Amino acid sequence: MKATDRLNQVLDDVARAEKDAGREPGSVTVVAVSKTFGAEAIAPVIDAGQRIFGENRVQEAQAKWPALRERTPDVELHLIGPLQSNKAGDAVALFDVIETVDRDKIARVLAAEMEKQQRRPRLYVQVNTGSEPQKAGIEPTEVVRFVDACRTDHGLTIEGLMCIPPIDENPGPHFALLEKLAREAGVTGLSMGMSADFESAISFGATSIRVGSAIFGPRSKAPV
Ligand SMILES: *Cc1c(COP(=O)(O)O)cnc(C)c1O
Repeated sequence: MKATDRLNQVLDDVARAEKDAGREPGSVTVVAVSKTFGAEAIAPVIDAGQRIFGENRVQEAQAKWPALRERTPDVELHLIGPLQSNKAGDAVALFDVIETVDRDKIARVLAAEMEKQQRRPRLYVQVNTGSEPQKAGIEPTEVVRFVDACRTDHGLTIEGLMCIPPIDENPGPHFALLEKLAREAGVTGLSMGMSADFESAISFGATSIRVGSAIFGPRSKAPV
């Protein structure tokens, strides 16, 4: 199947999940995750009408997206992978949304870069809902404090929360936890759900889903 056919299938599935959950049609944003895929695979998906894309590495995105954006200036690019502070300037320059704000230092460096560049990507805080030692993200118990600190200490507006549930668990409880934490922290965006579980995420209130392989097909390189 072609990526454009798979995209239409995903959009149909999203529409049905919105309806089943009693959500407004179009209330869920589909972020097409194009990591590991080259411009030749991405361009047809742009031409099919998709405008919002996610990448997990700053350098990879810098290599692919400036040329694609020249063709289609209204593309919106999301950073969904871990951000090192020495890449924060590049990330602020390139991305429209940074979904992986996960520690005080990165909040501080992003605030300084946004001031310097006078460019303000929208921001999400990544939450480690499964408290997995190897995974990035703020601990659930620290989310309210951290979102407040982003606002009061760094002057940042946080649009929402993002999570990647543990690979071997039912994601539902993690989606429910993220939704509860967002309410407690006073933010409305919920970036949750991937190819395997976006319909479940939509039923738990996802406002944004990150879908890679269901659109682009299997990745040959392991995600980093
Ligand atoms: C790769 C990736 C995705 C997409 O995963 P699929 O299972 O291919 O849909 C979503 N979110 C993050 C953070 C990712 O790194």
